[in-house]
Amino acid sequence: MPKRCKVCGREAYVYLPQHNLALCKEHFTERHERVVLETIRRYGMFSRQDRVMVALSGGKDSVGLLWTLKKHGFKVFALFIDLGMGAHQERVNRVIERVAERIDVQIVRYSLREHYGVTAPELFRRHRRRHPCSVCGTVKRYLINKLALELGAEVVATGHHLDDEASVLLSNVLRWDDEYLRRQSLVLPKTHPKLVKKVKPLAFLTDREMRAYAEAEGLPYVAEECPFSKGARLKAIAEVLDELERVSPGAKLQFYKNFYKFKEKYLGEAEPPQLRECRVCGMPTTSEVCAFCRIMGKG
Ligand code: AMP
Ligand code: ZN
Ligand code: ZN
Repeated sequence: MPKRCKVCGREAYVYLPQHNLALCKEHFTERHERVVLETIRRYGMFSRQDRVMVALSGGKDSVGLLWTLKKHGFKVFALFIDLGMGAHQERVNRVIERVAERIDVQIVRYSLREHYGVTAPELFRRHRRRHPCSVCGTVKRYLINKLALELGAEVVATGHHLDDEASVLLSNVLRWDDEYLRRQSLVLPKTHPKLVKKVKPLAFLTDREMRAYAEAEGLPYVAEECPFSKGARLKAIAEVLDELERVSPGAKLQFYKNFYKFKEKYLGEAEPPQLRECRVCGMPTTSEVCAFCRIMGKG
């Protein structure tokens, strides 16, 4: 590993094999933020006039994203959903309090129990045949969109990073799921008055880079995994990609980045889904009752 920063020659803080690049703390941070800003600009995610809502989990990714956006003068605030996950949730909530002390932005806390009288683990027990992550994902997606609308955000930014995105991509490729492949994107445009635009500004940064950034900036974050955790299959796929990356640095980034060229050339645009209003809550859905209301046992 080269030990000196490529920019200034000082002792290196990290080495990024995918770019054959060693950087000191200062130049790593500078480069990291440049990648985030460049992704936002190149993919037309949002401008400095837009009110951006960061979906904040308390993990290093969304905390790092919130910090970068605030630091660079975007109109940003955060939404944190308290899913009522027992002792784990208590620890997450304490970290969110520290994040609020550290980053001078509004953090809206939204409790599932206070608004719907139920916790995520209770929902998991009611829907044993579904993976907890799928139940939780549906609940989060719905509430993030609904709250963004209510709070007047033009766009929602999530902390999905390259490892997340590349794993989902490989998972879709392994099933040759053309519908999912067409829909996979780092920008989901507003396709309905009640759906908010969603973007992933960290899509070209790895899990390891996000950790190094949070450490370099001294940000508080939740390091522990959710007790219900990701499905075994997606975890195995991430490991396959890590193994590939080890012998072939840059493979992950190339796999993901070049997908968008391939998609444009061979897959074309996704058909906009036929949306109607949920009979129970009125939010857009493809069926009579939306996935969220079904999980909540309404309708
Ligand atoms: P995950 O599905 O846990 O990998 O999280 C993906 C992204 O969803 C995170 O980077 C956050 O932007 C967002 N997110 C996850 N959990 C929450 C939460 N409890 N409240 C708000 N946003 C969340
Ligand atoms: Zn340097
Ligand atoms: Zn509904």
